[in-house]
Amino acid sequence: MNFNIDNLLRKNIKSLTPYSSARDEYNGKEGVFLDANENAYGSPISSDYNRYPDPLQLNVKQKISEIKNVAKENIFLGNGSDEAIDLLYRAFCEPKEDNVIICPPTYGMYKVSANINDVNIINIPLKDDIFQLNVSLILDSINPKTKLIFICSPNNPTGNIIEWSDIKNILLFFKGLVVVDEAYIDYASSGSLIAELKNYPNLVILQTFSKSWGLAGIRVGVAFCSQQIIGVLNKIKPPYNINSLSQKILLEALENKFMIDTWAKKIIDDRERLILRLAAFLFVIKVYSSEANFILLKVNDPIGLYNYLITCHIIVRDRSKIVLCENCLRITIGTKIENNKLLESLKNYK
Ligand SMILES: *Cc1c(COP(=O)(O)O)cnc(C)c1O
Repeated sequence: MNFNIDNLLRKNIKSLTPYSSARDEYNGKEGVFLDANENAYGSPISSDYNRYPDPLQLNVKQKISEIKNVAKENIFLGNGSDEAIDLLYRAFCEPKEDNVIICPPTYGMYKVSANINDVNIINIPLKDDIFQLNVSLILDSINPKTKLIFICSPNNPTGNIIEWSDIKNILLFFKGLVVVDEAYIDYASSGSLIAELKNYPNLVILQTFSKSWGLAGIRVGVAFCSQQIIGVLNKIKPPYNINSLSQKILLEALENKFMIDTWAKKIIDDRERLILRLAAFLFVIKVYSSEANFILLKVNDPIGLYNYLITCHIIVRDRSKIVLCENCLRITIGTKIENNKLLESLKNYK
């Protein structure tokens, strides 16, 4: 495949001399560090955070590499996957000139990040009701200014996996980057596309520690991609984008992957039980099947139901104004107790 990153990069990024931090120039462990203007006495609390964090997070990447079975050279960490999304725009999309393809209904940040970076959006909605890609329309819409195509699988808010054969067709045809967001992959029946990275130099896979890993508060997301693309992201990221606390806590959490697997299994079981129970209510028009930790629900009066649930102190997401999601609410799978509270409350609705 004739993928050439130089044809994709913005001119200013291609010629950028990146910031070189003190820890980039010397990264030995021992010594008297008088290079970064830190306070050598320590921090005014019981543990010390007076030193800048590892800019490339090598210890964390080593552990992720073992868990995900991917070389650490193919791992980029961002301050949430939202940072990786923003950096992809900044690296590859010339403001006001270039465009990206987004397939609504999908995760809102692709659009917001495009707007912030003043990048044009070509919207190619998913096919009605099956929520799969309209591949022929996507391929027809690609033009020389198209740099990125965002695909979310399992998709938020619809919950379904996107067909691999469709993604593959786009990867083969498109000379820009295909960004596959796998934020919910731990709840899906099919596995990650990470193993495909070696076959497709234009594939970028996003994952996050915010969902199944239960670490939304520490803000760490991952991009898996070719070393070439990683090099670009490292060049333009804020030098210390993952702080010491986040790195420390993530390293601890990565030792307990068995907990993530246990929770994911539970949540999948509860999801299937909840889908059956929800489908039995008369006000429910449709419960979409889900490969994620949430359920999209079509009801006769979404705002009425939303407001009723608020009076029960249950907060769900109103998606009824989103294209192809008319009358829909999105409900996250909670603990068993929370799910039961939801079902009990719904029994008393109307
Ligand atoms: C929640 C979510 C994310 C997570 O973003 P973070 O910045 O890593 O918290 C990314 N993509 C999708 C589709 C999501 O739903």
